[in-house]
Amino acid sequence: MPQFISVSSDELFASSNDWDALIIISPDPLAVPFAAIRQALQQQAAIDKRIGQQLVLSVCDSAPGNRLLSAVVQIDAEYGDVSVYAEVAQQAIAQAQASGAKRPLLWVAANPLPQFAMALSVAALGCAQQLWLPLEAREAGHQVGISCIGLVDVPDNIAVQLTAIEAGRILARDLCATEPERMAPYAFVDYCMKSLVESDVDVSVLDDLDTLLADYPLLCAVGRASLQVERHQPRVLQLEYLPEDEVKHTLLLAGKGVIFDTGGASLKVGGGMSGMSRDKGGAAAIAGLMKTIGLLKPQGVRVVAQLGLVRNSIGSDAFVPDEIITSHAGTRVRIGNTDAEGRLVLADLLSHLRILASDAVNPQLFSVATLTSHAARAFGRHFATVPNSVALANLAPSFSHQANLQGEAATVSALSQEDFSIITDTTLAADVLSSMHLGSSMVTRGHQLAAAFIVSASGLNRHGAQSPTPLPFMHLDIAGAAIEGDPRYGKPNAIPLVTFWHYLQQLI
Ligand SMILES: [Zn+2]
Repeated sequence: MPQFISVSSDELFASSNDWDALIIISPDPLAVPFAAIRQALQQQAAIDKRIGQQLVLSVCDSAPGNRLLSAVVQIDAEYGDVSVYAEVAQQAIAQAQASGAKRPLLWVAANPLPQFAMALSVAALGCAQQLWLPLEAREAGHQVGISCIGLVDVPDNIAVQLTAIEAGRILARDLCATEPERMAPYAFVDYCMKSLVESDVDVSVLDDLDTLLADYPLLCAVGRASLQVERHQPRVLQLEYLPEDEVKHTLLLAGKGVIFDTGGASLKVGGGMSGMSRDKGGAAAIAGLMKTIGLLKPQGVRVVAQLGLVRNSIGSDAFVPDEIITSHAGTRVRIGNTDAEGRLVLADLLSHLRILASDAVNPQLFSVATLTSHAARAFGRHFATVPNSVALANLAPSFSHQANLQGEAATVSALSQEDFSIITDTTLAADVLSSMHLGSSMVTRGHQLAAAFIVSASGLNRHGAQSPTPLPFMHLDIAGAAIEGDPRYGKPNAIPLVTFWHYLQQLI
C-alpha cells in the first residue's frame, strides 16, 4: 500500500535523497516556488507550449530522479469542487508509475478559496485511489510498483493521518470489489478480522441462524434462498471502537453488505445483474472507516457499526413480493419487490442500533448503502444524504459540507409527509410497503421512499423531533458515488469514509 511520508522542500535538491520523481499540481505550475524547478519549467515552456497548459512529463536535472511532472488543475471558482485535484493527481501518478518511478514526491499549490482548502489531501488520496489494484490482481502477482509517496512541506501528522485513511480505504475497496465467492459473508468477516486484528476495534460476529432468524427477520428474508448453501449464509458483523478517555459522542452506523444481489424473485434481467457483487459497498466503507479509526484512535467518540452481510439469491425458498414480514422493530412489512432488499437489511440493523442509542452518549445514527438507482439518477456522482426530522437542521448540512470539502460530493435530500403516505399499506394487512413493484429509478421520489421505509420499519419513526426521545438519523445512499468509472468493474472509492473521518474530528 502506498505510505505517505512528510518531506521538507530542502530535501528536494539534496543529492542523497532517493526520491525519483516530482509531481507539481497547481493552477499555474510556472509559478512553483522552487527556483531551480521554476527556471527549468520556464525554459521548457519556451519550446513546449503544453507546459502550464496540461500534464507534461519532462526530463529535469533539478528534479529527483530527473523526472518532473507538471500538472495543471483548472479551477472553477464558482461551481468547481475540490475533486478536480483528485482527477489531476490520478492522471499524474499514472504517468509517474508508467515512467518507472517508485518513490514520487507530490507538491500541491495551496488554493486560497475555501472550497479547495483540502486540495493537498484530496490530491494525495487521488494518487492512492489510482494505484489500488483489486485483491485478485494482487494475489495473481500484479504489483503497484509505488510503495510510498513523499508529500512536500506537509506536516508529519497529516502524512500519518492520510496513510491511516488510505489503509482504511484499501480495506473498503478490497471488501467491495472482490468477487462474491471470494468475499462471501463468512469470508467478508474473516477478511475484516484479519485486517483489524492489531487495531483498537472490537469485532464480534453473529452467525447462529436461529438467533439471526429471531432478531433480524427482514435481513433473513433477504437471505432465505441462500440458507441451503452453507458458505452463502448471512452474518451480522459488529465493530466497536471505544476511546480511552470520556465518551462525548456516539456514532452508530448500519452498513448494507449485500454480497451479491440477483434481485431475488424480482430477478434482475437484461444484463442488470453483473457488477452486483459491489452491492456490499456501504458495509465495506464502514469497515474501512473502522480500520482508520482503530489506527488513529480519536478521543471522545465511541463508534459502533453493524454490517448486514447477506446474499440476495433466487431459489425455491426465495422470499417473494406480497409476503408480509414483521421487522425487528415490530413493523409489519409487505414486500413490494425483492430487489429492494437493502432497505430490509438496514431496517433490522438500525432497530438494534436504535436500542443501543437509548443509553448512549449523544448518539447519532447513520445508514450507508448502495441503495437505489434513483439516487444515482437524481444526483449523479453525488451521494444522497437523507436526514430524519432531528438531523435536518444541523447534522445534515454539517455532514454534507464536510463531504464537499473532502471531494466526496454530497447533496442533501429531504423526506416529506408524502413519502410516508405513499409507503403506507392501506389494506391494514401490513403497516408499510417495502417498495413499489417497479425499480426505484422508475418511481417518483424513489430514494426518498426507501429512506422513509427505513425510518418506519426500524422504529426510528418513534424518535422524531417532536417525540419525547428524538434521535438524529441520516441515511446515505451512495449508489451513484461508490464506484469510479465502469459501475460493474471500476474501482470502488470507499465514499463516504473520508467524510466520516473528518466529520468525527470536528465533533470533538
Ligand atoms: Zn436489489
